[in-house]
Amino acid sequence: MAERQRPIEQDPKVRCKNFEAVEENFTEEQAQTEASRCLNCKNPRCVTGCPVNINIPAFIQEVKNNELKKAGDIIRKSSMLPSVCGRVCPQEKQCEGKCVLGIKSQPVAVGALERYVGDNTKAEETKIIENGKKVAIVGSGCAGITAAADLRKAGFKVTVFEALHEFGGVLRYGIPPFRLPRIVLDRELDALKAMGVEFIKNVVVGKSITLNQLKDDGYAAVFICSGAGLPKMLGIKGENLNGVYSANEFLTRVNLMHANEKDTPTPLKIGRKVAVIGGGNVAMDAARTALRVGFEEVYIVYRRSEAELPARLEEIRHAKEEGVIFKLLHSPYEILGDTEVEGMKLEVMELGEPDESGRRRPVSTGEIVTIDFDSVIVALGTGPNPIIQKSAESENLDLETDKKGYIIINAESGETSIENIYAGGDVAPVGTSTAINAMGAGKRAAKAIIEKLK
Ligand code: FAD
Ligand code: SF4
Repeated sequence: MAERQRPIEQDPKVRCKNFEAVEENFTEEQAQTEASRCLNCKNPRCVTGCPVNINIPAFIQEVKNNELKKAGDIIRKSSMLPSVCGRVCPQEKQCEGKCVLGIKSQPVAVGALERYVGDNTKAEETKIIENGKKVAIVGSGCAGITAAADLRKAGFKVTVFEALHEFGGVLRYGIPPFRLPRIVLDRELDALKAMGVEFIKNVVVGKSITLNQLKDDGYAAVFICSGAGLPKMLGIKGENLNGVYSANEFLTRVNLMHANEKDTPTPLKIGRKVAVIGGGNVAMDAARTALRVGFEEVYIVYRRSEAELPARLEEIRHAKEEGVIFKLLHSPYEILGDTEVEGMKLEVMELGEPDESGRRRPVSTGEIVTIDFDSVIVALGTGPNPIIQKSAESENLDLETDKKGYIIINAESGETSIENIYAGGDVAPVGTSTAINAMGAGKRAAKAIIEKLK
């Protein structure tokens, strides 16, 4: 059997200074060779590994036959954004993680094939029969985009309200363009606009307009998919010093406000040495972005060992190749400096017994080391912003949330405690926070709204 095909990658020494895509797409020959590796199993485990159950063997067989349009149609029955998922899904834990070939050798490169199909095909045009009803979508991320497409196809007039000045949510302000080229996202958004979905920017639902006002404006249902953009911080001394950023702020300032470019009104202070706290995808994105905007030495500071790093394996490999230094088994203790960051005290850790997550718990050895840094980026996760919940409270609407502020929903329909108000994606406490799960939530909510309002 042929070896697993690998897309051509930019040289790490070159790419760590630019924002161009790290990987090229498969060539036709590579795609055919990779598709030929699929065993077309009778009971395909890969399908069960995909959160939206794409018929993976069927689309791969069409790639093998060079019938890309058919392959695209198969994927799009389950996922609206193959070019996005093919690039950002944690495939090694999902579809590829279940591929039987992976037991003895390398799994089929499902993600790269999906991206190849997504980039080379487009969604079939649907004839829309208007039904005269309006739905409002709050947030233009994965969940919002997916729900908007399905609702529009079912004949609803759909308006997407977005708080920021650009559309796409995390796909725009968080995930950097070297992982997800903006042309891919723009293509999907343009297709929605062509279908007649209305996008309105700079509208903060809960401030600029309330849930009751949306109802009064004739929206029969609202889908809240406002994400989880509120950063969690460390809670240690020195966190308020100049030069400490949350990863969300850092990435937004570079991705959305071009803070690294000349003549920008909102420049970033680029230092020499930066510590990125955390070990997930967001930490890898922040570290690799820091290299590209000009930091000379970039550290990932993570309190467990490499085996527990939650980021995708590919992101860890790419970060290492680009020169990011991994300071594992170290935990932030204090950020040092008078007004500006000058360094950080780190506690040296070792691994103890597994905790409730099943991962071995980091335990302090009691040793403290000091390292000089001039910036610190905190990538320890995020939670939902309470704006909509607070505004609902002030309107005497009982929008139930959990202790952490996530909007409680019916897991099957996505409906909240208020009739005809739905929620999903990162703002709801169901499943893990991934692009594909947010898309799944958008699909589920759209289906429930269509059934309820038809
Ligand atoms: P979002 O994409 O967050 O979109 C919510 C939108 O709502 C935002 O545009 C926000 O501005 C808007 N909004 C918020 N409040 C309001 C309001 N009151 N009124 C109007 N609009 C509002 N997942 C993966 O699968 N693979 C990855 O590699 C990966 N990498 C990631 C890297 C980063 C840096 C980040 C931050 C996340 C990453 N994720 C990754 C997670 C994934 O991107 C998210 O789980 C997913 O995109 C969430 O989609 P969403 O639609 O729920 O929310
Ligand atoms: Fe794999 Fe994600 Fe595609 Fe599903 S959507 S097949 S998990 S890459």
